[in-house]
Amino acid sequence: MTVQPAGLTVKGAWSALFTGPGQWGSAIAFPIVLAGPPTSITFSTQTSNNISAGPTAGNLTVWGCDAFVNSTTAGNGWWIGLYTTNGNCLREVDTSNGKARHHCDICDTLGEPLPISELITCIMVGKQPTYVVTCGVCGARECLNAQLTTADEADPNPQRAANARAIRAALRFLGKGIT
Ligand SMILES: [Zn+2]
Repeated sequence: MTVQPAGLTVKGAWSALFTGPGQWGSAIAFPIVLAGPPTSITFSTQTSNNISAGPTAGNLTVWGCDAFVNSTTAGNGWWIGLYTTNGNCLREVDTSNGKARHHCDICDTLGEPLPISELITCIMVGKQPTYVVTCGVCGARECLNAQLTTADEADPNPQRAANARAIRAALRFLGKGIT
């Protein structure tokens, strides 16, 4: 079996089509098995209609993830776009002043230091919380993997390890049960 090495991104297309108000989702199956669960997945929109929130992703594994959008009460609509795994993510997470910066891999913008509580938005997917950082420049949405462990922080791939440390530190700062 061919496995995508840690730190290399996987890209693909995803779409959600819906016919009424509510939360709509499906599985994303990665085109290759990853060496480890991605530290995050970033969505960039190609076209969308009647979206009130999302996309957001949960249950990130080596095989894929769940992805969801929330529709407006107007009903019929869609989200069509691209996903990219293993974004460059959070930078300079400083839990002493509660700030961090976000680097967007889609438009390569490093944002200014912002309060972590403003940077990261929690969106419920059913009863499962998901954590999203939205790029202020291009609107790409980076969905953080909230299931990373201390083993991910010690990953041999330095970028993956740095991403895991930054995400876990930020979520722990927000009191999200990261141990
Ligand atoms: Zn961007």
